[in-house]
Amino acid sequence: MIQLHEPQHMVTRFAPSPTGRLHLGHGWSALMAWDMARAAGGAFRLRIEDIDGTRSRPEHVAGIVEDLRWLGIEWEGEIVFQSQRLAQYDAALERLKAMALLYPCFCTRADIAASASAPHGPEGAVYPGTCRGLSAGERARRIAAGDAHAWRIDMARAVAGAGGLAWEALAFPFTAGARAKPVAARPLLAGDVVLARKDAPASYHLSCTLDDAAMGVTHVLRGDDLRAATDIHRLVQALLGLPSPIYVHHQLLVGADGRRLAKRDGSIALADLRAQGADPLRLAADLRAARFPIGISLAKA
Ligand code: GLU
Repeated sequence: MIQLHEPQHMVTRFAPSPTGRLHLGHGWSALMAWDMARAAGGAFRLRIEDIDGTRSRPEHVAGIVEDLRWLGIEWEGEIVFQSQRLAQYDAALERLKAMALLYPCFCTRADIAASASAPHGPEGAVYPGTCRGLSAGERARRIAAGDAHAWRIDMARAVAGAGGLAWEALAFPFTAGARAKPVAARPLLAGDVVLARKDAPASYHLSCTLDDAAMGVTHVLRGDDLRAATDIHRLVQALLGLPSPIYVHHQLLVGADGRRLAKRDGSIALADLRAQGADPLRLAADLRAARFPIGISLAKA
């Protein structure tokens, strides 16, 4: 019998962390993801990555919603808040623990920085593996004593089990009919990354991967700075049996000094532009045409 399949319904998303107001680069990225979904007759969704209790602020959530609405962006369905999905993260962590792929890490940042042997990977310093060799007894003793700990993945072991992996990439800017190409994932370069933080119930890598799957995201559009993270996300998908979306990484916006725009230097917040009386329709049209204010440009690919 011939099985007829519905054409896949495209779902894209924007997933800001509410640690500040959105800047021009966020607005541009969100518009690109929204347009991509609309051009395909698909859906665009919004997720707030608010599990970092020390940096996330409710007023920034309200600000993000206000900024996106001002730009004219509309999302489908309810906003997904990571802070409401902790049980799902926990369940995934338990599965990975049962697979003996995670270990508790008691190191402080200072311990790691002090380790002369720490090599550098695409995501920064690679964890030197200090706690990987602790005995089961020592781990249990320290956990029982209430020692603060993160949970790291034993990357070599996980990669050995998962085998060679690739993720599908579409080039940005995408052209109609472009075909996704496989990119070999190299999660080993990142070392034993954290999947559950000391100060948060999950890490970005775990929560983002689980949420994209739960939200039915088929296409992830995000900045080039998260390319290396995609290798890790692909591995987590393989370990947990999750579908792998197609990834589109775009260049980041940089200022006149060549440095990427960041919330911390207060660079061109959408809220400031609004306060200055900017016309959002015009701004959205300029962003779509990659016409940025003086001094701001796309980083060289
Ligand atoms: N929350 C992340 C950020 O604001 C984005 C994560 C993603 O798009 O995968 O940088």
